[in-house]
Amino acid sequence: MAVVSDPYAAVVDPQDSRARVDAAVRTGAGLTLWLGLLLVSYWWATGGGFQDLAGWETGLTSAGRLTGLLASDLLLVQVLLMARVPFLEAAYGQDRLARLHRVVGFTSFNLMVAHIVLITWGYAAGELTRTPATLWELTVDYPGMLLAVAGTACLVVVVVTGVKAARARLRYESWHLLHLYAYLGVGLALPHQLWTGQEFLASPGGTVFWWGLWGLSVGAVLLWRIGLPLWRSVRHRIRVTSVVREDDGVTSVYMTGRRLDRLPAEAGQFFGWRFLTGPGWTRAHPYSLSAAPDAHSLRITVKDLGDDSARLRALRPGTRVLVEGPYGRLSARARSRRRIAFLAAGIGVTPLRALAEGMSYAPGEAVLLYRFADRPLFERELRLLVAERGLGLIWLPGHRRAPRSWLGAGVGPADDVAALRYWVPDVAERDVYVCGPEAWAEDVRRTTEAAGLSPDRFHVESFGW
Ligand SMILES: Cc1cc2nc3c(=O)[nH]c(=O)nc-3n(C[C@H](O)[C@H](O)[C@H](O)COP(=O)(O)OP(=O)(O)OC[C@H]3O[C@@H](n4cnc5c(N)ncnc54)[C@H](O)[C@@H]3O)c2cc1C
Repeated sequence: MAVVSDPYAAVVDPQDSRARVDAAVRTGAGLTLWLGLLLVSYWWATGGGFQDLAGWETGLTSAGRLTGLLASDLLLVQVLLMARVPFLEAAYGQDRLARLHRVVGFTSFNLMVAHIVLITWGYAAGELTRTPATLWELTVDYPGMLLAVAGTACLVVVVVTGVKAARARLRYESWHLLHLYAYLGVGLALPHQLWTGQEFLASPGGTVFWWGLWGLSVGAVLLWRIGLPLWRSVRHRIRVTSVVREDDGVTSVYMTGRRLDRLPAEAGQFFGWRFLTGPGWTRAHPYSLSAAPDAHSLRITVKDLGDDSARLRALRPGTRVLVEGPYGRLSARARSRRRIAFLAAGIGVTPLRALAEGMSYAPGEAVLLYRFADRPLFERELRLLVAERGLGLIWLPGHRRAPRSWLGAGVGPADDVAALRYWVPDVAERDVYVCGPEAWAEDVRRTTEAAGLSPDRFHVESFGW
């Protein structure tokens, strides 16, 4: 990359202008979402939806139809959002996609509940007392309805276990398994839409739209969630080459594979990994690359937090590895400025260590602020980056000094914003890359915003779920 004389100039490397493409994809995706909802509402309106609202019973049924259609549309959008569609992954990143998935998910679920209540109430001639009996009749007499009820039950399980309080009580594996019931729930709802729903087949446009959306969702899951990871795992035949202890409970796994130059991974990204050692291989765990990937090697660095992460210490060279990814947007892809700042906490330093190695910058253009409890990871490697690349490095030792502060206890009494401005006076003019626990990352977000950083230049990955 050519070094430009103005240090605050936007990045000029054509590779990094992918940020503009991603912005266009986000705009396009947002417009498509709203267009879909508009079309569905239009078909409902042209089918007499508004006129039906004039009567009590017909109004209930009509409102029920509209909420059902909007819920179906959003349920399929949900599936698409989590189908690992590469251009959506690149444009939004995992964190943002997961947040969108949550908002769209809860909205579609609420609409679905409204649909069930309103339709049943309408079929019960608008009499509340008759609705339980009507619900029973609808379930057993109408084609596809029994399946739809089973599908609804699956979605209820997914939503209830998705609520934060419930999630905190579940192991990740249990939550993830239950979450897969969402696919079953969506799949079971299809027959009733086909056989009972009027709008589904009412007009050629509607038929094309609904079949197209269903086909797209199923195709996206098969292609990107299942097909592509399998293809990449077979093609690259990734194997463990060595396992190195970095610190108490922290291990690096070095891997190699065939044609890794064709694996489109970048520093800062992560994969879902399955090590074929026996127990635990059925669960893919996300780990970021802790070194910039090259044509011959990949490295991850993992902290023991549970059974599967602890098992990595005992991996043997030659162990086969299945991968899903690369995912994530905490990479050069999100960059829009030459000057960058990395803020890491604990094991969150892994992707930022890779970025500090893999990104292009001139001496003084990049700085890493690294908070750690006892000892920093990668101390020797980071000092080498300081010496060879001119990376600025600020150690922030100590546990968090207060719940709402991103600083360690070892840095003295300065307030969060003043401290950040002291170390990185031009922070508002940089791209800021952040990785660490979710609550800590939120504190960093607040601090950088208070220091004047525009939210679109704050790039974050947290290791939670
Ligand atoms: C995008 C991303 C990148 C990550 N990169 C790294 C990394 O570079 N180094 C590192 O040490 N850790 C990383 N993690 C965290 C790592 O995935 C979990 O610590 C690991 O999966 C724990 O698995 P376990 O079975 O050993 O522990 P468990 O006992 O199952 O869980 C221990 C903790 O990890 C969480 N966890 C478990 N499985 C997952 C999962 N599949 N996704 C998210 N959280 C999970 C649990 O909620 C719990 O808080 C990353 C997480 C994410 C989401």
